[in-house]
Amino acid sequence: MKLTVDALVCEANGVCVGLAPEVFELDDDERLHILMPEPPAELRDKVRHAVRSCPKAALTIEE
Ligand code: SF4
Repeated sequence: MKLTVDALVCEANGVCVGLAPEVFELDDDERLHILMPEPPAELRDKVRHAVRSCPKAALTIEE
């Protein structure tokens, strides 16, 4: 699994951060950082849920 964010589409509303704080982080400038671009197996369901929940569809998973 490889995770990317389209920074031009992300509106920094923090939905993904709330659902998977181990993987997503917003900085003080409201830029989203992916802390684990290749999340370990135990976090993958959580990450998929966060990706599906992004209201802007800014996150992409490559399997
Ligand atoms: S849920 Fe989507 S729009 Fe919101 S911070 Fe995460 S990537 Fe950005």
